Amino acid sequence: MDYFDFNMHLPFDQLGATPRDEHPRAQSNQTISVSTAFHPDVHIDNIYPDIMLVSSDQVFFHVHLHRLLSASDNGFNALLPPPPDGSGLVPIVVLPEPAEILNIALHAIYNVPASQYAPSFETLSGTLDMLMRYGIPPARMVLPPTPLYALLLSHAPLRPIDTYALAAAHSLEDLAVAVSAHLLSFSLPALTDELAARIGAHYLKRLFLLHHNRLTALKQLLLQPPAAHVDTPACGGSEQRRLTRAWALAAAHLVWDARPNLSMNMLQAALRPLERDLTCELCAFALRDRIAVLITDWSAVKVRRPLALVDS
Ligand SMILES: [Zn+2]
Repeated sequence: MDYFDFNMHLPFDQLGATPRDEHPRAQSNQTISVSTAFHPDVHIDNIYPDIMLVSSDQVFFHVHLHRLLSASDNGFNALLPPPPDGSGLVPIVVLPEPAEILNIALHAIYNVPASQYAPSFETLSGTLDMLMRYGIPPARMVLPPTPLYALLLSHAPLRPIDTYALAAAHSLEDLAVAVSAHLLSFSLPALTDELAARIGAHYLKRLFLLHHNRLTALKQLLLQPPAAHVDTPACGGSEQRRLTRAWALAAAHLVWDARPNLSMNMLQAALRPLERDLTCELCAFALRDRIAVLITDWSAVKVRRPLALVDS
C-alpha cells in the first residue's frame, strides 16, 4: 500500500491540535508514515479524525472514534475510547496488526473500496480475524454488495476451497454460496484433515452434497436413451436396441469418473461417436436430438445456485 511520509508534526498542525514541539515524539524530528486513505484531512460526518491508530509497522491511520465504536461490539477490543491523559492531544492507540491488514479492516469499517491495494488472500483472511477480535463480526460486513465481499469473492476462481473454508469459518453464508460455483471442479479426495477441520461439519456436509447431487442429476439425465422410432424394414426393434445399449455403455463410462463440472464438450465427445456405427438415418437423428436435449438440461443443472440446492 502507499503511505505519505511526513515529518511528525504535520498531523498535529493540520488537526489544529498541539504545536509539534509540545508532542514528545515530534521532538526527535523523526519521519513517520501516514496512510494515504486515512490521513488527517479525511472529513467524515462533519468531523475531522479524532483518533490515530498505529500499526505494528508504524503507519499512522487518522480515523473517527464514533465510526469505530459504532461498528464494534466490544469497544474495539476494549481499547476505545482511550482514557483521557489530560494532554489535549489527539489520542494514539498502538495496535499489534500490520498496516496491510489494518488498512483493509478500516476500509471495511468505513465501507469503502480497497480493491486498489489488491490485498492477498492471506491479508483478507487476517483482516477477518482482526475484525472478529475487535468486536466486528465479519458476517455483518461481508455481504453483497459490500467492497469487502467483492474482494473476497475475487479470490474464489484461484483459491476456491480456501475461500470457501474462510467463508465457512466465519459463517459468511452469501460468500459460501457464491464461492461454491467454483467448487464443482474440486476433487473431494484432495481435502486434508486440516482443511476439513477449518471448513467445519455444516459446510463440509454441504460441499459433499453439492457434488453428490450434481452427479446424481447427471446420472438421471444420462439414463434416458435416444427415443425409438417407428420400425422400418431396415431398422426394427433389435437394431434400435443396439443404439440403446451403446448409449448405456457410453453413459456408464461418463459417470464413472465424472466431476460435477463435466463440460458440454466432454459430453459431446463421449456420445457423438455413437453415430459412426449407425446406418439408419432415423436412429442418427434420434441420437443427435437426445444429445442436444442432454446438453441443454446439463447446462441448466450446472448454473443453478450450487449450495442453495443442497442446504440442509
Ligand atoms: Zn433406426
